[in-house]
Amino acid sequence: MPRPKRSKPEEPVKLKVKKGDLVEVISGKDKGDRGEVLAAYPRENKVLVKGANMIVRHTKDRASNKSGAAGANQVIKGGRIEKEAPLFAAKVMVVCPACKRPTRVGYAYKEGDEKLSRRKYRVCKHPDCGKSLD
Ligand SMILES: [Zn+2]
Repeated sequence: MPRPKRSKPEEPVKLKVKKGDLVEVISGKDKGDRGEVLAAYPRENKVLVKGANMIVRHTKDRASNKSGAAGANQVIKGGRIEKEAPLFAAKVMVVCPACKRPTRVGYAYKEGDEKLSRRKYRVCKHPDCGKSLD
């Protein structure tokens, strides 16, 4: 039987989170954790957050292809390797650098040169803050 095709978004999703942002995890096992965005994957709608969604890889000792001075293969030591796994962008919120609270992201145009470039920038959605996130 043919397996039903997984529907994947064809267009990359526009993420509101960017590499380098400080974000807070709002759901899942790392809820409440904050970390820097190491990478954003708009195609998968996922982000890689430092220290969040850690997975443990167990690796075995294995011989490397390079031979050592004695001619014998050198051994790459195995063990537990902890690394971050990407999590859904919807599970994180950007932490506003001005008010230090996780916030939804709004967009605004740069004052003054609205007609020239219409450069959008991201703003904090807290009504008492509204500072730029970029
Ligand atoms: Zn704010």
